[in-house]
Amino acid sequence: MADWVPLNDLSRSIDEHRDELSDAFRDVLRSGWLVLGPQVSALEEELAAYLGCAHVVGVASGTDALMLSIQAAMPPGRSAVVTAANAGGYATTAIHRAGYAARLADVEEADHCLSVRTVEPVLTPEVGVVVVTHLYGQAARVEPIRDLCRHREVALIEDCAQALGAHTATGMAGTIGDLGTLSFYPTKNLGALGDGGAVAANSAELADRVRRLRQYGWTTKYRVGVDGGCNSRLDEVQASILRSRLPRLETWNRRRRDILSRYVHAARPPVRVLGGAATEHVAHLAVAVCPQRGRLADHLAAHRIRTDVHYPVPDHHQPAWADRFTGVSLPVTERLAQQVLTLPLFPQMHEDEVERVCQALAEFC
Ligand SMILES: *Cc1c(COP(=O)(O)O)cnc(C)c1O
Repeated sequence: MADWVPLNDLSRSIDEHRDELSDAFRDVLRSGWLVLGPQVSALEEELAAYLGCAHVVGVASGTDALMLSIQAAMPPGRSAVVTAANAGGYATTAIHRAGYAARLADVEEADHCLSVRTVEPVLTPEVGVVVVTHLYGQAARVEPIRDLCRHREVALIEDCAQALGAHTATGMAGTIGDLGTLSFYPTKNLGALGDGGAVAANSAELADRVRRLRQYGWTTKYRVGVDGGCNSRLDEVQASILRSRLPRLETWNRRRRDILSRYVHAARPPVRVLGGAATEHVAHLAVAVCPQRGRLADHLAAHRIRTDVHYPVPDHHQPAWADRFTGVSLPVTERLAQQVLTLPLFPQMHEDEVERVCQALAEFC
């Protein structure tokens, strides 16, 4: 019987450039710097150049990147943050940790992202920040949301954990709003061999505030100049690994996009695979939408194809948060949570594996 087609297989990306990864480790061992050293600074510069923004600040994870960004960007006197409820709960976790209330907005059927239409109704005067997630690697239509935010003196944060390298209508995802957040969790398009994250900024003032908050709020060593800081440093080993992988990101993203577009074309109604215009999508996840999700998952399993659900529980239905969101109803989010099914997609997929997924999709009806 054929092997299972895995959803992802990180050992293949390690095998692809094992020697370079060993060199990246060795460089750090030789240098003797272990946290926030020359590798982190060099990575920050290389990422800023790649994104075309002024500043990047390395932090310990994508969730910390969100939390520190929210803390840095919240205007005085405001207490709430608007975000989507279909993006895995990371933003909501960060909002709560920063000490604010989450205001959940519904998403668009077309791209599963926030829009002006869904954000505007929840943009009450307490709201100081909006977090837009570029979900599954698809660039959200973020410019109209930015204009709405500016008008209300609300800060805009783009969560690019799944979308590093995606282009919006006017620039790279992560550089359109006030701050952009990245995650280097191993399964992301640019993954470390452990945890890591970063914040992208064009404003020197906001970047400085994040830089202080990531290290106890220190302005200089042992001088706490900003309240609310924590320890969220990026270490040298991860930065060195990420530097060795960054030059491969565009090639990997292209391969991801190719695989995704084959699924998009193979799928027949009632299955739709979410795709996007060439450069707007970096295909972090291949997500099918199907009213009979259970049947589709069974059909793929019968063909020995792994699937998963991103994400099964909207934030307002999470058991630990239910009390915070009584009375919240998000019809599109709730329906899509019952219909989404993630297909295997990673750059090192073998051709025959891609073909098997396409055939199984084409056969389902
Ligand atoms: C992975 C992810 C995060 C969190 O990143 P961590 O590094 O795991 O903390 C945040 N937002 C989105 C959309 C993600 O996919």
